[in-house]
Amino acid sequence: MSTKVCVLGAGGRMGQSVIRAVSERDDATLVGAVDRLAGPALGKDCGRLLGLDAMGITVADSLDAAITAGVVVIDFSAPDALISALPAVQATGAALVTGTTGLSPEQLTRLEAAAADVPILRADNFSVGVVLMRLLARRAAELLGASADVEIIEAHHRRKVDAPSGTALAVGHSVAAGLGVELDANADWSRHGQVGARGTGRIGFSVIRGGDIVGEHTALFAMDGERLEITHRATDRMIFARGAVRAAAWLAEQSPGFYTLEDMLS
Ligand code: NAD
Repeated sequence: MSTKVCVLGAGGRMGQSVIRAVSERDDATLVGAVDRLAGPALGKDCGRLLGLDAMGITVADSLDAAITAGVVVIDFSAPDALISALPAVQATGAALVTGTTGLSPEQLTRLEAAAADVPILRADNFSVGVVLMRLLARRAAELLGASADVEIIEAHHRRKVDAPSGTALAVGHSVAAGLGVELDANADWSRHGQVGARGTGRIGFSVIRGGDIVGEHTALFAMDGERLEITHRATDRMIFARGAVRAAAWLAEQSPGFYTLEDMLS
């Protein structure tokens, strides 16, 4: 059966990659595309947006006309756009795959509540390599404990608006779980000026922004006389797009509930 996909944030870097990823698969069909009212993509054919033949799907400014039950919305937009889309998703009984990062705790709670009505899968990073990186970082933290100082370093392109990245936060949560602590109570989000010596058990974050870097993450375990680095480098955002479309095909078969990539892969 073909998965019917509607893309939210269709004019963006990831939205366009998702449209391309849908067009690569025989078992997925693009049925809708949505972007913001004043956006440059509005009214354009999705194929033309990518420099391909016309696909017959025009970018609209609202989900209302684009979704019905059985459609999976794939969202890579912005936190406010995601939250605004939830009533339409819930009302129609569509499913939702979302990769938008930078949600506030309240927005995350709202998203999780919507999963009582419809299937929702959220991932800060849709690459299989990052799922593995989180498992390895958690295990390293379990084994090394307080003997290692953990720093998480991430780099992204100049236009990324949230920091640290959702993936860096997810890796941080994995390390915290390995250490048996809460991330928020143990994170050093940034350092500037006379900050004093590093505290034992802290989880430090460093953020780099520049150029067209797709996404790089390192979990650094610094010990006396040696250090271990677990690094993931994304060189093509199509890995995220293909992962999201694969997740949409899986989610279309699921009951209402809140799912992660680990649920899909297990
Ligand atoms: P982008 O700025 O290129 O694209 C975002 C798109 O959303 C734009 O076209 C914008 O016009 C649209 N948009 C904004 N507000 C909207 C609204 N109210 N209604 C409809 N459309 C709206 O950004 P991007 O690089 O494509 O990233 C988008 C999101 O995906 C970010 O949160 C980013 O961190 C996240 N991301 C996640 C993953 C992952 O694997 N989970 C990978 C890459 C990026």
